[in-house]
Amino acid sequence: MNERNLLLVISGPSGAGKGTICKALVEKHQNNLQCSISATSREVRPGEFVDKTYYYIGKNKFLENIENDQFLEFAEVYGNYYGTLIEEVQRLFKMNADVILEIEMQGALQIREKSEDAVLIFIMPPSFKELRDRLHKRNRDRKEDIQNRLDKVSSELKYIKDYDYIVVNDRLEDAVAKIEAIIIAEKCKMNEKTFDIGTFIKDI
Ligand code: ADP
Ligand code: 5GP
Repeated sequence: MNERNLLLVISGPSGAGKGTICKALVEKHQNNLQCSISATSREVRPGEFVDKTYYYIGKNKFLENIENDQFLEFAEVYGNYYGTLIEEVQRLFKMNADVILEIEMQGALQIREKSEDAVLIFIMPPSFKELRDRLHKRNRDRKEDIQNRLDKVSSELKYIKDYDYIVVNDRLEDAVAKIEAIIIAEKCKMNEKTFDIGTFIKDI
């Protein structure tokens, strides 16, 4: 029997640890779990890799792709466009993997509208203070960008109710283990795609 492949959506405030958790999960489950690479209109930042961190396609191409219905979801964030290409998700499902989308909340809601089966996970930091410390320690963003990210948190928390699960990222290993448990539970969920009860009963 084929297990169903899952579409996992991971969101949460900037600095909560989404990227760190996704990286740990993909390293641990290389053949079974893949992170979708998003397209963006923004420039490459130092330390990022073309076609690995993002597909950097520029604004014109991004708008053309919207026009041609190439996106499963997309959103404008901090003045730039970000989106999940349908072709990218199809490519990863063909590898028989579960697929993670690390995306913000507007995009997550678009996925929810398109697929009831998608699994939406909200990553929370253990406290606001810890979130602020992590953003500073990451040493990536300018002070005013960090403040912008912190200012957005309370409006982002309003989306929690639309998610299926909340995972608090206190110890990284625990957060990873919780998501592994969610994946197992979702694969065991009863639905007609996971178990052909008709065929089973005929054989009794
Ligand atoms: P996000 O992708 O949500 O913006 P990151 O994955 O970049 O967040 O994590 C933000 C910072 O917090 C990074 O410096 C990362 O190393 C650190 N971090 C992530 N998870 C933990 C954790 N469980 N405990 C301590 N630090 C963490
Ligand atoms: P950054 O520029 O810091 O890499 O990303 C900014 C925000 O865009 C983050 O909240 C990130 O999760 C979100 N993001 C990245 N890719 C996508 C995507 O494909 N779709 C949506 N909706 N958001 C994305």
